[in-house]
Amino acid sequence: MYAAKQRARDGSGPASALLPEPRIDLEQPMRLGLERGEFVVHYQPIHRVADASLAGVEALVRWDRPGHGRIPPNRFIPAAEANGLIEPLGLRVLDDALRQAAVWIAEGRVREDFTVSVNVSPVQLQSSLLPDSVSGLLAKHRLEPRRLLLEMTESSMIAESTALAETVRLLHEIGVGICIDDFGTGYSSLSYLRYLPASQLKIVPQFVAGMLQSSRDEALVAATVNLAHRFGMTCVAEGVEEQAVLERLRILGCDFAQGFLMGRPAAGAQYTDLGTTFRPG
Ligand code: C2E
Ligand code: CA
Ligand code: CA
Repeated sequence: MYAAKQRARDGSGPASALLPEPRIDLEQPMRLGLERGEFVVHYQPIHRVADASLAGVEALVRWDRPGHGRIPPNRFIPAAEANGLIEPLGLRVLDDALRQAAVWIAEGRVREDFTVSVNVSPVQLQSSLLPDSVSGLLAKHRLEPRRLLLEMTESSMIAESTALAETVRLLHEIGVGICIDDFGTGYSSLSYLRYLPASQLKIVPQFVAGMLQSSRDEALVAATVNLAHRFGMTCVAEGVEEQAVLERLRILGCDFAQGFLMGRPAAGAQYTDLGTTFRPG
């Protein structure tokens, strides 16, 4: 057991791929990584279902840790949430995403309603300083608030905490969009929709991928699209990997689609054909 843990620590063995990084050991490397700019932000395209044009991108962070290769977010975000580094890391991602969006807009390479979506951890939402940080970064990059969508998971809403509701209200007041990520998986009650000023629902890949095989999954997607529209929100289907799924989403009236069919997350510099319409094949 010790040997496996040791291999996981130094990344020298196959166990490192299976075991989560021991959290206690990650704080110092993450601190250094933040100082040294080892965290990189990739962008995944989000397309309009109706005409397949590019609507925006989602920022997804990776850690290029020397000696360990590229580490996916699921392996270090929980540690960052536990050790408090999610706050500086989250702001770094936001800064990078807004800088990238500002460049694309300035170059005239995206449509007038192009948006960038950034994930916000429940831990970040606990901080009353978040709205000011968001305003400050929007001003720094001279971006209108409507360009930014903040993605938060349903589990963030569980507490129905007044502090969290107040933070989300302030963010909404600034004019940024609020997206409920992984909708339908985190929470058994919809009551938070009564007071949370969300502008978008994002459907998890599990429901979307199974849509063609399972009439229940299709019903869940259809119900979510209808729910979003009844609340005046837009709806994004995540995990779209097949053309046939995209066609079914079009029939159901889903607004946006994101997934490997349209594009995998990639560095900003790799986006050479922005503004173009997705063409299968
Ligand atoms: P998420 O926000 O639900 O992001 C979508 C994940 O699904 C991404 O994984 C993306 O690469 C993957 N994906 C996209 N299209 C497809 C598809 O067609 N098929 C399949 N199988 N997967 C697809 P990634 O980049 O590994 O991110 C995992 C999670 O890490 C994210 O889930 C999000 O919860 C978290 N995360 C990533 N970046 C950040 C960040 O900057 N801050 C915070 N707090 N969390 C982040
Ligand atoms: Ca997300
Ligand atoms: Ca998601």
